[in-house]
Amino acid sequence: MRIDLPTLYALALLTSTVNGLMLLFSWLQNRIAMTLVWWGSGILVLVFGAGLVAFRGIVPASISVVFGSGLWLAGYGLMWCGARVFEGRKPLLAWSMAGPLAWAVLCQSEAVYGSQELRVRIFSVIALVYTLLIVREYWRAAEPRPASRWLAITLMLAQAAISVLRIPFAARFDPAVMSGDASILLPLWVTWLLLHTNCMAFLVMAMAKERLELQVRKIALVDPLTGIANRRAFFEHGERILARLRAEGRPAALLMIDLDLFKSINDTYGHETGDHVLHDFCAGTAGLLRPTDLFARTGGEEFVCLLPDADTAAAMEAAERIRARFATLKPLPDATDAMTVSIGVATTRSCGYQLDTLMGAADRALYAAKNAGRNRVERAVDEQPGPLPAVGAPSMVADAQAPVAVC
Ligand code: GH3
Ligand code: MG
Ligand code: MG
Repeated sequence: MRIDLPTLYALALLTSTVNGLMLLFSWLQNRIAMTLVWWGSGILVLVFGAGLVAFRGIVPASISVVFGSGLWLAGYGLMWCGARVFEGRKPLLAWSMAGPLAWAVLCQSEAVYGSQELRVRIFSVIALVYTLLIVREYWRAAEPRPASRWLAITLMLAQAAISVLRIPFAARFDPAVMSGDASILLPLWVTWLLLHTNCMAFLVMAMAKERLELQVRKIALVDPLTGIANRRAFFEHGERILARLRAEGRPAALLMIDLDLFKSINDTYGHETGDHVLHDFCAGTAGLLRPTDLFARTGGEEFVCLLPDADTAAAMEAAERIRARFATLKPLPDATDAMTVSIGVATTRSCGYQLDTLMGAADRALYAAKNAGRNRVERAVDEQPGPLPAVGAPSMVADAQAPVAVC
C-alpha cells in the first residue's frame, strides 16, 4: 500500500484535531486540569497553522508563510503554557507568543520571506526553543516523575533533536506538500509530526489523570483539619511499617494520645478555637518527631504515633516531650487555662508486632493515665522503665514501678 504525502499530511491534521478536541473535552470533565485546555488549544492552533502551510497555492502564499507557520509556532507556545500550568506556574501567555511574533517580523524581510531554506531554519530554531522550554518544565517538577512524564520528556527531546536535524537539511524540507515534489525527509517528518502530536496528547491526558488520582488519594489519606495522616492512612502504613520492622528484627513503640478535657476548651473558647488547638498540637508534635515516625489523627482529639526503632525509654521520652510541649500552648493568647494531654505507651518488645494489639495496650495505658488524673504518660504492663527526659517542667511520666495495662 502506498500513502502519498498529501494523504499523510491530511491524516496528521485530522488525528491531531481529534486529539486536540479530546483534550478540551477531558478538561470539561476535570476542570481543575487547566493544562488540558492549553495543550488542547495548542494542538488545534498548530493544526490550523499547519493546514495553512499545507494549502499554500490554494491560500495566498503570504498567508500560508506568515500566518500558517506563525500559528504553528503559536501552538507550541500554548503547549509550553500548558506544561507550565501543569507544574503550578503561571502560563506567561505574552512570552509564549514571542516566537510567532519574531517569525512575523522576520518574514517582513525579503531575504527571509523569499528563501524557503532560511525560513525552515528559522522555524526550526524557534520550535526548538519551545520544545526545550517544555522539557525544562516537565524536568524540574518537585514530585517524583512517573513513567508518563519520562515518556513526555523523551518525546519532546526527540522532537528537539529532529528540529536540530532540520537545520542543515533545510533545503530538503519543502512544506508545500501539495506540490507532490518532496524528498524522502518530508514524508518522514510528517509521519513524525503525526506520531509526536498524538502521543503527546495521550501523555498529557495520562499525566493529568495521574495527578488527579494522586490528589484523590491524598485527600483520602490526609486529615483536612490538621494536615497529618488520618486513621485510614495510619492503618495502611502502620501495618506495613510493623511488618517490615518485624522482618528486620527492629523494635517499635506506639503512643496513644488524647487531649485532656477538650470538650471544655470547645465549650469555653468555641469550636473554631478548638480547631486551632488541634492544628497547633499537630504542628508542634510533628516538629518533635522524626521523618520516619508515623503520626496520625485517629479520632476527634485522639492521635497515635508509631515510632520505629524506639524502645520503652525512647518512647517514654518522646511522649514526655509531646506532653511538655502541649502544656506550653494556650487556646488563646490571653487565656489562663493550661492545656494538657494524656499519653499511653506500648512497645513491640512486650506486645508484639500486631497493630491492633499494640493499639489496645497503648489505649489501656492511656485510660489509666486519664484515671490517674490526666496530663500524664503511662506505659503498658511489662514495659521496662526508661530514663526520664530532661525537660524544664517537672515530668509527669507515671511511676515506672506501676505499669498499668496488659497487651
Ligand atoms: P477526656 O480528658 O476524658 O478525654 O475529656 P474530653 O473532653 O477531651 O473527651 P470527650 O470525649 O468528652 O470530648 C471530646 C471532645 O472533642 C468533644 C468534641 O466536641 C471535641 N472534638 C472532636 N473533634 C473535634 C474537632 O474536629 N474540632 C473541635 N473543635 N472539637 C472536636
Ligand atoms: Mg480527650
Ligand atoms: Mg477522646
